[in-house]
Amino acid sequence: MLGDEEVLEAVQGYIEERGESLAETLSGASAITWHSLLKGQIVRSIESRSEEKRLQPGPLDLSGHPVYDTIGDYQIPRPRDPAEQRTRKMVRRGSIDERSCACGNGEVRCPRFEGEGKIRCEQHQPCGSCRNSTCCLLCDGAGRSALKPAETQAAGGSLQKAGGDTGDRTRCYECGESDVACVTCRGRGRVQCTTCQGDGSRPCPDCAGDGKVTHEHCAGTGRTVEWTEGTITRTPRTDEVKLPEPGVLYWARRLADQHATWTPTTLTDDDPLRACVQKDFASALKPLLRPQHQEIARRTKLEYVRFVKVAVDEHPHRIYYVFPSRGLPKVVMRPSPKRTWQIVGIVTGLLLLLVLINRFIA
Ligand SMILES: [Zn+2]
Ligand SMILES: [Zn+2]
Ligand SMILES: [Zn+2]
Ligand SMILES: [Zn+2]
Ligand SMILES: [Zn+2]
Repeated sequence: MLGDEEVLEAVQGYIEERGESLAETLSGASAITWHSLLKGQIVRSIESRSEEKRLQPGPLDLSGHPVYDTIGDYQIPRPRDPAEQRTRKMVRRGSIDERSCACGNGEVRCPRFEGEGKIRCEQHQPCGSCRNSTCCLLCDGAGRSALKPAETQAAGGSLQKAGGDTGDRTRCYECGESDVACVTCRGRGRVQCTTCQGDGSRPCPDCAGDGKVTHEHCAGTGRTVEWTEGTITRTPRTDEVKLPEPGVLYWARRLADQHATWTPTTLTDDDPLRACVQKDFASALKPLLRPQHQEIARRTKLEYVRFVKVAVDEHPHRIYYVFPSRGLPKVVMRPSPKRTWQIVGIVTGLLLLLVLINRFIA
């Protein structure tokens, strides 16, 4: 860990390296403030146990499943890796009940069955060629001419265009007029159903006419298996740790991520950093480290860094950060917040001035 002396030496060296000189050697006159940061993750394994009645078509071999007596008492080893998602399915001892299905043979009566294995069907379908609108230019499928007899003659030649149709026309089956009807439906607006050929009934597609369908409940096996299934699920839950809370030491944290050497800490009894971390973050860490409901394992992976902010009297517009690093301490210089606001103020002032000048010129 860094000490005050070492820190001041490092800042002094940094300033001299920049070719600047100080009137006197840095000492207690410079304000040194120590800060610390903590980052990392706490990964917990959260366990849940449940029981559920299961039913499946038989026969079914459940012998590969582990057997339990009381779901809450079943022992399985704690997970080696808390980040692993695991689900274990088990069978309660003595709960397997295999029996024959009420249907007997896996078949039930077809619910659409209407005698002789057929179901009702439409005898006709709308004509696809004329779409039922202009099946006949004269009677529109009604069989009666909309025109008076005198007009019928005169209209005859031009009717083909009147309906907007361009295709061939034929004699209308309904009104008897020639060259007015759709060739497909002959003025009827509908055609014979192709499924039943106008019969009005067709074979049932579900049972192919024999009146029996597979029983879904037993999937046609005629047997069912019921049992009580116990499930133990282990789900990882990760909490990010970033202390102090966001916003505080924002710049220092960014610089520390870039320049500092962080020290891992596990917060266990044999961790030499434990006392130090506890001292700095005890109250913030307490709720984070509290065991959670159904937590069975955890992995705490944290890193800690303690660094210094140095204010030098001769450089009131700067802050020197000193971070521990692998070799010598790392010094980083930033304008002080006061200086930053001054610069922002000057820029804003200049912009306002420009606006004013612009107005005057205009
Ligand atoms: Zn059945
Ligand atoms: Zn017609
Ligand atoms: Zn038609
Ligand atoms: Zn039909
Ligand atoms: Zn059927």
